[in-house]
Amino acid sequence: VIDEVAAFDGLRDEVRAWCARTIPTDWREQQAGANHGEFLSFQRWWRDQLIEAGYFVPHWPKKWGGREMSLPEQVVLYEEMARGDAPRNAISQVAVYNAAPAVMHAGTAQQQERYLPAIVGGEIWCQGFSEPNAGSDLASLQTRAIRDGDHYIVNGQKIWTSMARDATRCILLARTNPDVSRHRGISLFVMDMDTAGIEVRPIQNAVGESEFCETFMTDVVIPADNLIGAENDGWAVSQQSLGSERAVVLIGLAELLRRNGRGFLLESVRQWTMPDGSPAIDDPAVREQLGGLYGEVEILRLLLGRMVTNLIRHGGTGPESSVVKIYYSELLQRLMRIGTEMQGLPAQLHRPTVASSGWESRDFLHDFINAYAWTIGGGTNEIMRNIVAEKVLGLPKEVQVPAGPR
Ligand SMILES: Cc1cc2nc3c(=O)[nH]c(=O)nc-3n(C[C@H](O)[C@H](O)[C@H](O)COP(=O)(O)OP(=O)(O)OC[C@H]3O[C@@H](n4cnc5c(N)ncnc54)[C@H](O)[C@@H]3O)c2cc1C
Repeated sequence: VIDEVAAFDGLRDEVRAWCARTIPTDWREQQAGANHGEFLSFQRWWRDQLIEAGYFVPHWPKKWGGREMSLPEQVVLYEEMARGDAPRNAISQVAVYNAAPAVMHAGTAQQQERYLPAIVGGEIWCQGFSEPNAGSDLASLQTRAIRDGDHYIVNGQKIWTSMARDATRCILLARTNPDVSRHRGISLFVMDMDTAGIEVRPIQNAVGESEFCETFMTDVVIPADNLIGAENDGWAVSQQSLGSERAVVLIGLAELLRRNGRGFLLESVRQWTMPDGSPAIDDPAVREQLGGLYGEVEILRLLLGRMVTNLIRHGGTGPESSVVKIYYSELLQRLMRIGTEMQGLPAQLHRPTVASSGWESRDFLHDFINAYAWTIGGGTNEIMRNIVAEKVLGLPKEVQVPAGPR
């Protein structure tokens, strides 16, 4: 990425050697068609390898089991893992990159003692933020938490809760004061998922996987001791905890797209033929599309590099992370769509694919459909465009429509 990263060639060699030793070259074949239980055990195995190597929470303080890796060191780690074709650590994202920062920033010493060792030990967490009527406009969430002595009683519904059926705990946003402005009356809790009154219903997505769920809460009792930060301060706590480390993880994306997207497309095109039997790779239209994609993947790499450089040198990513998110997710869709089109009818065949993958299953149609998750999750691309319009281009603010029946 930048000069700062060049100083860590030793770490690069270490990670490269570890990947070569640890990642099974046939993990996709092993995982093709795996059911949910098999997917989970593979993920748990992979998580344990990361824990053992010190790559699970590389950015954490040593006292909590981390390696205190600097941002440039993390860049090296994630670049090399992507180059080594590492599987995605799907089950730990919320615990490591959402829950842990909130607990570290705003949790009490007792809460840190309770939760951080559990996270570093591999506990699965989920995030209960979105609701049927609160997604992009999260501050309109309606789940209620009412204080009753030393605990809260929670009622409401969450949706799109990734990994909810496998999670031990949930970071939950709930309204504790409906009488103040929308952002101010929300609190952040840790909810144990085995508490009475929680019902989790998996939702099947467009490729037939059930990664996310609906989560219903009926008179769920949460001890007051599980409140993270001050009561009614949950909005600020959840925003502050979006740590810079998450941005660094993104650095692997360009490499993954290069390898599993563009690289795999090129590999495939070399084997495909046109309807007249001539090699697809000789077709001028195919070559033009491949050339265009080559350039676009390089642009993504440079955009990510610039974002991470700013993060390392100036300590923040700013609104350019929205540009990266739009560009990445739409390029991913384009690449997979072009792969699906070029493959022609065989692309429509149903094959056993790797569970919960985004772009890495190496099945163009499957990855094309799955790619839509990236234009929605983590803030939709329309919302990202609003941010770019207002914060980068300085356009007038979006008109706020008063809340009311729709
Ligand atoms: C794979 C995946 C995993 C997820 N995991 C989780 C999870 O673990 N926990 C969790 O809490 N949530 C999760 N989500 C939910 C995610 O955060 C929401 O889907 C997202 O915030 C969008 O909210 P929504 O689905 O309610 O869409 P809405 O907000 O209802 O938006 C519907 C459409 O309207 C557009 N729109 C809305 N407002 C505006 C505006 N102001 N200007 C222009 N266009 C607008 C949107 O862009 C979108 O196209 C996940 C989503 C996905 C796809």
